[in-house]
Amino acid sequence: MAEEQAKTTPVKGRRGKARLIAGRCIACGRCEPVCPVAAIRYDEKGEPVIDLEKCIGCRKCVKVCPVEALEMFDPQTGTVIPTTRADEKTEARPDAGSFRGVWVFVEQFKGKAETVSWELLGSGRTLARELDTELAAVIIGSEAKHLADEAFGYGADTVYLVDHPVLALYRTQPYCAAFVHLIKKYSPEILLMGATGPGKDLAAAVATRLNTGLTADCTGLAIDREKRLLEQTRPAFGGNIMATIVTEQARPQMASVRPGVMPMPDFSAGRTGRLIEETLSFSETAISTRVLEVIPSEEEGAVDIAAAGVVVSGGRGLANASGFDMLGELAELLGGTIGGSRSTVDAGWIKHERQVGQTGKTVRPKLYLACGISGAIQHIVGMQNSEHIIAINTDKNAPIFDIASLGIVGDVFEILPALTATLKKRKEGGTP
Ligand code: FAD
Repeated sequence: MAEEQAKTTPVKGRRGKARLIAGRCIACGRCEPVCPVAAIRYDEKGEPVIDLEKCIGCRKCVKVCPVEALEMFDPQTGTVIPTTRADEKTEARPDAGSFRGVWVFVEQFKGKAETVSWELLGSGRTLARELDTELAAVIIGSEAKHLADEAFGYGADTVYLVDHPVLALYRTQPYCAAFVHLIKKYSPEILLMGATGPGKDLAAAVATRLNTGLTADCTGLAIDREKRLLEQTRPAFGGNIMATIVTEQARPQMASVRPGVMPMPDFSAGRTGRLIEETLSFSETAISTRVLEVIPSEEEGAVDIAAAGVVVSGGRGLANASGFDMLGELAELLGGTIGGSRSTVDAGWIKHERQVGQTGKTVRPKLYLACGISGAIQHIVGMQNSEHIIAINTDKNAPIFDIASLGIVGDVFEILPALTATLKKRKEGGTP
């Protein structure tokens, strides 16, 4: 009856009304005293009965409840209003053993998923198998339901979907609120996100809200089966060492991985799974940011070396910017593109959009040709997963040879023109 009346009460901003979640209350008696308008009384079981006419949506009862038995909802639609950072309270750290499942955030822009999401579903499948648990994809957006089929095809057992017009374009506040709501409700033990602009932003916001650990820009993920720990490997101390980091106590264990680091899994058309649609209420007026326009960066529009099948990459051994003309011709013959080390970018020989490595892009082409590149760890983390690596260097002890499939000890100014001439001849002769 009270709920009936409340349906006609207008909701201001994101306030809403408080209500009890069935089966959770422990009758601790904490909510009634904090209500400033005496809207709460207890029933014979000691559980709160909320007078929705009186409730002013202050959330004090929700914040004080130790077992999250109260939630805010929109009385006009009946949907849950997710909590925000301001609603957080210091909570006892949840028991890690009660968390299960590997989740992957499916980042999308205007209904098109970023490929890193599918790469992570591939890695997530391996982790989930190790832990004997399920793999889930999380889709947050507006009119994004079609992505669920893609997620199933790339290996998700379950898809959690939060679809709302307010979520059309990425904004930290509503995406974080939606994600935190899902995590609190379903308790995943591992959460993977793409280390893209939005992915990194969201990962940091979610980890902060949940007071859990986050390892950014991982280059390797593995499982300690006995302790159910995610072993997150990434360069540390300026890339001088590779550190393996674990989040021992807090949950979920969160890691971000850059695009191109993990291989794409196979797509299985027609594969299906469980779709869980969460209906949440958002109010535009409660969000402090508006996206006025999305302008692709100059870099994004120009070249995507991460997607290239062949990368012909140059280092300081090329001596100057004109050395890259030599690479350009070879790259064209091989149907590839040019990349470079940070030294060449710092020297102004090529643009940053072509930099390979820790502070550049991660590539995994079929062929990576490293010309006059020493093979510093910061460079290697960006190209070590290439299918074939050919290195040309005058120094036989250059570290690049440690990871090369084929090493040529020699001068790039002799070898590259010879290689280009041979390829040209073969092409002219009709040999592929
Ligand atoms: P060098 O190390 O100077 O190597 C040049 C090589 O060319 C030498 O091995 C030499 O033997 C060889 N050579 C010289 N002449 C010839 C010739 N005629 N023919 C053949 N070989 C020849 N670096 C990156 O690349 N990407 C990154 O994203 C990146 N991020 C970084 C982040 C941090 C925090 C830090 C501290 C460093 C980072 N670096 C990065 C820099 C990195 O440490 C190295 O300094 C850089 O990769 C070296 O570039 P290079 O191999 O072109 O130059």
